[in-house]
Amino acid sequence: MTHEKVRSRTRETAPEQRCSACASRYDFLERRWRCDCGRPLTIESSEPGVAGSGVWRYADVMPPISSRFQLTLGEPVTPVLPVGGVLCKLDHLMPSGSFKDRGAATLVSWCRAAGVLDAVVDSSGNAGAAMSAYFGAAGIALTVYVPEGTSSTKQQQARRYGSTVVEVPGTRADASEAARAHAAERGAFYASHSWSPLFLHGLRSLAAELVDQLGPEIPPIVVPTGAGTALLGLFQGFKRLVELGRIDKQPRLVAAQARVCSPIVSAFKAGRASIAGEDWGRSIAEGINIVDPPRGSEILEALRTSGGTAIAVDETELVDARDELWQRGVMVETTSATAFAAAQSLLSSGQSRTAIALMTGSGLKETMQ
Ligand SMILES: [Zn+2]
Repeated sequence: MTHEKVRSRTRETAPEQRCSACASRYDFLERRWRCDCGRPLTIESSEPGVAGSGVWRYADVMPPISSRFQLTLGEPVTPVLPVGGVLCKLDHLMPSGSFKDRGAATLVSWCRAAGVLDAVVDSSGNAGAAMSAYFGAAGIALTVYVPEGTSSTKQQQARRYGSTVVEVPGTRADASEAARAHAAERGAFYASHSWSPLFLHGLRSLAAELVDQLGPEIPPIVVPTGAGTALLGLFQGFKRLVELGRIDKQPRLVAAQARVCSPIVSAFKAGRASIAGEDWGRSIAEGINIVDPPRGSEILEALRTSGGTAIAVDETELVDARDELWQRGVMVETTSATAFAAAQSLLSSGQSRTAIALMTGSGLKETMQ
């Protein structure tokens, strides 16, 4: 397809940050973490990114950040390994041990372009490690607020990368509040992976990589879903690839959650457009114990627009799925087993003959606790 044809099929927009709720627009490099109305922002741009190495190889779906600011830690093309009838996408093999490196690469590169010198995040695990790896490599100071009880292995990983880690009494929400207070008081940039549109943009690389590996006919993709960054990155990435004529239609996206903490499944099954404030428990799938994701409405819309669904998994199924994965040589964290178990139930119910399950994080982090 010629460049002219591509241009005629896509809307011409200079890169900017746009509100998903009130349509307010902000400069692409304006240092803010949400809209003035309080809702999350999205990057809108018809400019392709600049091709580089690591995740930057997927220029079509990357944000427009020049080569001199692009940061990579050598993100590989992660393998797709068939396990039973499920195609496991091994994103736990990323540099810091989780898929979150894709988003950290673009967010930290943007921070370099925007002149950020000091950043703060909150995390209970993989995001804190990924952000620490990339901010550390960029030479930008990072403070990570974690809720008390966060595994010492994950705290240690962030510290070794050079971050300051602060343990906060209370819940994950208390850690978020402490991080935002730190940002307001000290002028540090709040680089939250749950809110940042740049983080989400990096996860679009997952869509381009799957099309490179499997061709244009992509089976349903099952994703462990907490804040929904992987699922929304896939949705946005495939949307862009449809616009570019690389694929004909969006593959079905499937959110997998632990039943004890399943606000997305509950809202999807009830036909609601947003997440209701319900009480939930804590699952052993610790990466997805998110009760009120900032982009909840966007996740529900992505599931419905793609013709996908949402599946809840019991704790016992989770343990069985994790153990099966390890016994087959796939060393992932318990959270990843949510996708494997949900993919198996999709297959056994006859809704699909095959499915991709995203393996989100390395099991090494759990064995060293
Ligand atoms: Zn707004």
